[in-house]
Amino acid sequence: MSTAKTSSEVRERVVSAGMVDDDASFELKLRPRRLQEFIGQKKVKDNLAVAIQAAKSRGEALDHVLLYGPPGLGKTTLATIIANEMGVDYQQTSGPTLQIKGDLTAILTNVREKQILFFDEVHRLQPALEEILYSALEDYRLDIIVGQGPSARTHTLDVKPFTFVAATTRAGLLSAPLRSRFGIVLRLEFYSDEDLRIIVTRSAEILDVAIDAEGALEIASRARGTPRIANRLLRRCRDYAQVRGAGHIDRPTAQAALQMLEVDKHGFDEMDRKLLLAIIEKYQGGPVGLNTLAAALAEEADAIEDIYEPFLMQIGFLDRTPRGRVATQLAYDHFGIAVPRKQHPLF
Ligand code: ADP
Repeated sequence: MSTAKTSSEVRERVVSAGMVDDDASFELKLRPRRLQEFIGQKKVKDNLAVAIQAAKSRGEALDHVLLYGPPGLGKTTLATIIANEMGVDYQQTSGPTLQIKGDLTAILTNVREKQILFFDEVHRLQPALEEILYSALEDYRLDIIVGQGPSARTHTLDVKPFTFVAATTRAGLLSAPLRSRFGIVLRLEFYSDEDLRIIVTRSAEILDVAIDAEGALEIASRARGTPRIANRLLRRCRDYAQVRGAGHIDRPTAQAALQMLEVDKHGFDEMDRKLLLAIIEKYQGGPVGLNTLAAALAEEADAIEDIYEPFLMQIGFLDRTPRGRVATQLAYDHFGIAVPRKQHPLF
């Protein structure tokens, strides 16, 4: 029997960037609605602001947009913001939800003029459906085959000009033809501690919980550069402050709450530690192949690549090399383990 964790188990980590338990209702409340309220990601905001203003002044639909980056950084939020700023309708679907051609054609034939069609996890769209999408995106046209064999006929349907906003955590998995349909391609980066501190402060205001700057920074610095995690940690700290503290969140309260949750100063949890320690202790620091590592951790390779690795690489604890994953000097230092200098490929 496989001991690999299911993805729902993976997402239950308190520092998971994916959605867990009751995130959805909170996120709705905390989600910024206008570009001005969206903190950080200056390059992305500047690009969008210009494109939106230009499209509005021409009275046209905005170009198709591809948003990519790790989970929890604001892709869905930006899609809704684009709709608000353009003053158009918004509709949402995702790669795994759409199974048959009929579903996609139904959506496309019903789109309203200039509306936003947000498509999450676009890398999981089935190839047969992707082909239908091409002509809809390029010429606002749908070719539908009716019937089978010699009596089959192709019907062409018009689609109203609309804006396709697609999100993915794996831009590398998109086919070249699909990628080329996007006029605006934007990459979301992990957030700085200062940006996250502002996000935490804003969320605390909406949730009506008192927090000081140091408390907010403590939460921000352990949130793995990810607003979704920062908001979740804030909620947990709020509970802690109410039950064990004086009701407001200062640095000691945040520290105590986060210690109870076993979130360390880098936002690492058990799985991050296990991953790095496996590379260091079982594979002498690496390089070790992704699949070997996944087997050693009884974890899915995809989860390692999408959920755990991006942040460990961002903070310089892990390298992806052509020969496999490598733990860096910083990772060794973190665990207080000496680097085996002769064998290690990086030194
Ligand atoms: P993704 O679609 O990339 O997984 P979301 O758009 O669902 O991420 O963002 C998760 C949550 O994080 C949102 O509900 C929102 O509250 C918060 N968030 C994301 N980006 C920002 C931001 N730049 N400023 C404020 N809050 C943000």
